[in-house]
Amino acid sequence: MIIGDMIISSLEFPGNVSLVIFTGGCILKCPYCHNPEIIDGGKSVEMDEIIKKIDNSMEFIDSVVITGGEPLIQNEEVKNILRYAKSRGLKTKLDTNGFFVHELEEVMDLLDYVALDIKAPFGKYKEIIGSSIDNEVRKSMESCIKADVYLECRTTFVPYLMEIEDIVEIAKNIDANIYYTLQQFRDKKVLDKKLYGTPIPSRDELKEIAEMIKPFLKHIKIKTAEFGDEIIK
Ligand code: SF4
Repeated sequence: MIIGDMIISSLEFPGNVSLVIFTGGCILKCPYCHNPEIIDGGKSVEMDEIIKKIDNSMEFIDSVVITGGEPLIQNEEVKNILRYAKSRGLKTKLDTNGFFVHELEEVMDLLDYVALDIKAPFGKYKEIIGSSIDNEVRKSMESCIKADVYLECRTTFVPYLMEIEDIVEIAKNIDANIYYTLQQFRDKKVLDKKLYGTPIPSRDELKEIAEMIKPFLKHIKIKTAEFGDEIIK
């Protein structure tokens, strides 16, 4: 399997300590991707090594999180990891961009939690991230809702690429039974160099947008580098 890294973290699955596996490869090239080296890169590891890492971490973890890149490019490997994690009594979470609908449905029974990127309003993906995967993302969201897994939808608010109205439009058209998370764009490392110098949305700006979308979504969170995750009441 191609991976970037494996780390233990308490940030990725709220209330849990997780082994986080960063997988290599992605079908998208989001201009604001903050992990551009993982789109084409990563190192090859045997499944045995990943299993051993889970075994060796059992004393510290209660969950496994698979993130990317886009994990479902390597759907068979993802399935094997999730199956093993479940056999060890661990909770499981998958982060995905929502393109691989069928592959997501195939592993849904093995998942407790899905974090799904909603990168643009449906109908504006091409304009905002350069790839028309609107229908696939919508279907992935609907599959998660149908399967009744914990679903978090997340959008990185990137000034220059999107307007506040785009976030409102997203909020009107999605559902998320845990949270809708509005993430702060950072220009520390991005794929498209033209984005360097883009204004960083402040915590207050994100809070204002969160207030605007309250009528459409029950549970909203903002995420900033300065304050981490904050639930908007
Ligand atoms: S932001 Fe995520 S979905 Fe977009 S290119 Fe980077 S890894 Fe892929």
